[in-house]
Amino acid sequence: MSRVLKRRQFLQGSLAAAASVGVSAVRASAVRTKEDYIEAIVIGSGFGGAVASLRLGQAGIETIVLERGRRWQITDAGDTFCTYQKPDGRSTWLSPTTIVFDQVPIEVYTGVLDVKRGDGMIAYRGAGVGGGSLVYSAITYQPNEELFYQVFPRTISYEELDRVYYPRVRSILKPSPVPDDILQTNYNLSSRIFLELAAKAGLKARKLDVAVDWDIVRQEIAGQKVPSAITGQGYYGINSGAKNSLDRNYLSMAEATGNVEIRPLHVVTSIEESDKERYRVVCNQINEQGTVIAQKSFICRYLFLAAGSIGTTELLLRAKANGTLRRLNNQVGKFWGPNGGAVSAIITNGLTNPTQGGPATVGVEYFDNPSDPITLEPFPAPIVPETVIALATLSIGKPEGYLTYNTSTQSADLFWPSNSASNQKNAQAVQSLYQRINSANNTTFGQQPDFSATVHPLGGATIDAVCNTYGQVHGYRNLFVVDGAFIPGSTACTNPSLTIAALAERSMDRFLNRST
Ligand SMILES: Cc1cc2nc3c(=O)[nH]c(=O)nc-3n(C[C@H](O)[C@H](O)[C@H](O)COP(=O)(O)OP(=O)(O)OC[C@H]3O[C@@H](n4cnc5c(N)ncnc54)[C@H](O)[C@@H]3O)c2cc1C
Repeated sequence: MSRVLKRRQFLQGSLAAAASVGVSAVRASAVRTKEDYIEAIVIGSGFGGAVASLRLGQAGIETIVLERGRRWQITDAGDTFCTYQKPDGRSTWLSPTTIVFDQVPIEVYTGVLDVKRGDGMIAYRGAGVGGGSLVYSAITYQPNEELFYQVFPRTISYEELDRVYYPRVRSILKPSPVPDDILQTNYNLSSRIFLELAAKAGLKARKLDVAVDWDIVRQEIAGQKVPSAITGQGYYGINSGAKNSLDRNYLSMAEATGNVEIRPLHVVTSIEESDKERYRVVCNQINEQGTVIAQKSFICRYLFLAAGSIGTTELLLRAKANGTLRRLNNQVGKFWGPNGGAVSAIITNGLTNPTQGGPATVGVEYFDNPSDPITLEPFPAPIVPETVIALATLSIGKPEGYLTYNTSTQSADLFWPSNSASNQKNAQAVQSLYQRINSANNTTFGQQPDFSATVHPLGGATIDAVCNTYGQVHGYRNLFVVDGAFIPGSTACTNPSLTIAALAERSMDRFLNRST
């Protein structure tokens, strides 16, 4: 038993009887069982959860992190994760087939990438110790002040984020731009071509900060590490260890404080208000095949929700539907958005992908676009043929999506209006950018932007609507949202992880100053 729990275990009343993994609501039963008391619980170990865990641990607060996925330790053999070319159960969260590219049959396993299929939107997310950082492309991108305030209220000081919290996160994730020797290799040919196309069109193109260890990328190039980043792997994890995922920085630092215990393969099914401003958290412990092997219940004083936009919102919606958090307001589930994201491609006049390489390293900012400010980022995509560059677009879409609770499936349903005004505005912005690139370069606008999928789900328990400016849930003094659920649908033309982490740092500073 952990040092954290040994000190504070006691027998208490009822344990909620749990149902099937992750989806079924749990209500109290008459079963008397052991319930563990812990000062703080963090649900989820992605960006928000990792920040919360480290700061709680450093403040000497005994904390348990309940994470539904497993740990992924990088091996010397370079075989921690499966690859796009040979997918297996490790690729996907409890699914009989893979969920990106082709649907390949696989064994059902607690793999790294999960999907929420909604009405008008498919949202991808990570699962495992480190959350989305296991599967992300590691772009670590700070929005500018003007665009930031098109999304966030003035109660959040951009000046303070810029001065304190963005640098604080960067000091731990250690992102940096691609070094020129790596950019000049064939592995980054498509990035170089894209920079040239943008320059000819007079667009502002730049290298982006990426949270990878470039020395390990160099070792991949030299044949000393398994080729992984350089062959465009990413959504199933990077085997060489090049990615600075959260398990290797924030979370290991949190564990090193001695006050934080991470419990992988623990799927939280219910949160409820207990007496004396405490919370009961009920979870299913599962094995790597997803079978429930134990049901557990904890009582805590401070509860931090960090299960990601969809996970956190679902837990809150379920608590509201089941009456376990009665003071939640009707704004839960609202103001959800896909970060103004779309996927498209341009067709060039020459070879682009001799290695299918990566990682994603550069972007174009077209903020004076007449329709909408947008950012365009080429990304490695193994299914993309030669001459084509796959592009992700990020803009400021209105948070017109929402999640509701479905009592028959006991899970959240996701809705996104595919013909929304935001999508139309974004499509115009993308087209105007392509016209500029095409007319300067004699390239072809290859594909209409596709707005039906996102890897950046944001919102559902947003600032002002559900939480105060520091993530405290209205009506609940010791309940906090510290992840992407807090953000109203967009991080202002940037990839969201840096802003999620910076806002979590800000919220934790406030929490710790309040309670110490
Ligand atoms: C393929 C892909 C590429 C991406 N690339 C980038 C990029 O380059 N740059 C960038 O900034 N962003 C990127 N993102 C987005 C980024 O990963 C997310 O915005 C970020 O991880 C969200 O952080 P979070 O703290 O809100 O939640 P997450 O990181 O999603 O963490 C939530 C955690 O909670 C766990 N969880 C969920 N439900 C439960 C439950 N009931 N019980 C216990 N645990 C639970 C999950 O397993 C997960 O570990 C990418 C995402 C994907 C999918």
